[in-house]
Amino acid sequence: MTDLAPAPDTADPQSPDTPTGPAEAAPAARNGFDALDLPEALRSAVDALGFTSPSPIQEQAIPSLLEGRDVIGVAQTGTGKTAAFGLPLLAAVDPSVREVQGLVLAPTRELAMQVAEAISSFAASVGGLDVIAVYGGSPYGPQERALSRGAQVVVGTPGRVMDHMRRATLKLDMVRFAVLDEADEMLRMGFAEDVEEILSHSPAARQLALFSATMPPAIRRVATEHMKDPVRVSVSPQSSTVSSVKQSYAVVPFRHRTGALARVLATTEAKAAIVFVRTRAAAEEVGAALIERGLIAASISGDVAQKDRERIVGRLRDGSLQVLVATDVAARGLDVDRIGLVVNFDVPREPEAYVHRIGRTGRAGRSGEAITFIGPHERRALKNIERATKQTLAEAEVPSPRDVSRHRLRTVLAQVPERAQRGRLELYRELIAEFLAEGTMEASELAAVLAAMTVGDDGPGTRPEDEEFTGATLAGGQGPRGGGPKPEHGYTSYRIGVGHSHGARPPSIVGAITGEGGLDGKDVGKISIFGNFALVQIRGELTEDQLARIGRARVGGRALRIAPDTGPRGGGKGPAQRRDGDRSRRRGDRVDAKRKSFGRP
Ligand code: ADP
Ligand code: MG
Repeated sequence: MTDLAPAPDTADPQSPDTPTGPAEAAPAARNGFDALDLPEALRSAVDALGFTSPSPIQEQAIPSLLEGRDVIGVAQTGTGKTAAFGLPLLAAVDPSVREVQGLVLAPTRELAMQVAEAISSFAASVGGLDVIAVYGGSPYGPQERALSRGAQVVVGTPGRVMDHMRRATLKLDMVRFAVLDEADEMLRMGFAEDVEEILSHSPAARQLALFSATMPPAIRRVATEHMKDPVRVSVSPQSSTVSSVKQSYAVVPFRHRTGALARVLATTEAKAAIVFVRTRAAAEEVGAALIERGLIAASISGDVAQKDRERIVGRLRDGSLQVLVATDVAARGLDVDRIGLVVNFDVPREPEAYVHRIGRTGRAGRSGEAITFIGPHERRALKNIERATKQTLAEAEVPSPRDVSRHRLRTVLAQVPERAQRGRLELYRELIAEFLAEGTMEASELAAVLAAMTVGDDGPGTRPEDEEFTGATLAGGQGPRGGGPKPEHGYTSYRIGVGHSHGARPPSIVGAITGEGGLDGKDVGKISIFGNFALVQIRGELTEDQLARIGRARVGGRALRIAPDTGPRGGGKGPAQRRDGDRSRRRGDRVDAKRKSFGRP
């Protein structure tokens, strides 16, 4: 359970409580997959995965594919397409023949790995069946060895599949079942020719399944050319798996969103969260603002290099990253079980984007939650989403600073019994007794002080994430500032024009600044690196001359272009404006009406 449940009086009729835990699973439960006529081994794999009924796209596509028909499936991400083609693909493969019989093409390395992993899990109880992923950016050796050992199913990106074909390490003449997954994305990425070529090298008699979120003419052409009398199936967004996600919205004026977001994140029980924004600039900005507030966050947008994207997704998966701020494109196909919460920092323009966004949580039959921030005048956009998804969203309220403090202390208090049990408290007991004996304070008062110190605040509303509510002035009154950490006393925040995407790392940045600016290493404070820029804190202020010299220094082949940090995009429009000192001092300008926690009062 999390604190992010929609307001209690507006239960979501669309999300019946998902049964969890083996205790609740009836022994001989009827399973909706029974009707699909899957081979026994696959049928039990489905059970083992805990799929209790086929998703609509699975229900529609699997029977035709099992009959040997070609299928065109139109469905958004998160609708369960992998099993829709993966199960029939495995049914078509003969494990005793050690040749490539199933081929899946996917647009990115990450999707290829995901699909290969899913198909492997479906094939777990089929003996002698190997599934491998082939993709660019990694050595050929291991992929070649796996191919030569006789993997029967290959999942790959078109580019690398072509490479293996050219090297004759991959032969397609025994392929019985081919799949184009996320076909529109593959064509968008310029793989049209490769896809054509790969298909034309596979036997004409093979079966072909094509799945795509949209059906542009280029895909219709592929279909007409390479498919025989295909069966068309499509599912509309409302019937996708997103019904397992508890959805709500909150009215939050734009300038309060960063604070509201920080408080939502500070009170969630979700292990990891994704925050969706519309633009790359917003992704970096919001990511920076969260880091400033002490959250372990990162941002990705469509132009983040694949390598960086994978590293970030890996961190999300292994738990070393709490919050990912992403654009729609960047999060496409992302499947990370840990994501228990999706926050739409703004209302997605298209209902499809909404469905895709919230589909990043509630994966694998787990429960998930999604909250969408809307502006006071955006009710119409909300209505559009409700109409398209055939549901109404519950209005939730953004947690207040009080809620954050309460949540933090409750989390600590919940650990008290266990800590007490571990003992070894004699020393503390003694020191506390001494302190109390001085008679300056009651025990309960001392406990409250220690609580505040443990939670790390000076009482609700005083932490940085509360600034928009309290009107605390920012950055020691040095005027409007950007999305980076607040400089320590005596330090000034500078923005440089290199970031992760240019391969910038702290040592090279420090090197460039000290080398060119004649500074000492200890004059360089905290460095926060973002996608396309970084924020560096420097003791004192740089002279014009130092700025010019450092600005010409290069990191990763790019000039640093250092300048005082005046806010994201040079203090342009957007959330940067929320940092306007005047506004944040205007105490009346709060959203008090929204002060109440989600769910549990
Ligand atoms: P898509 O390819 O359409 O984006 P996926 O195949 O990745 O969707 O499936 C999305 C998630 O739903 C995965 O975590 C998958 O394990 C889960 N899933 C798929 N089918 C079912 C089902 N029938 N019941 C429960 N969970 C399912
Ligand atoms: Mg998929």
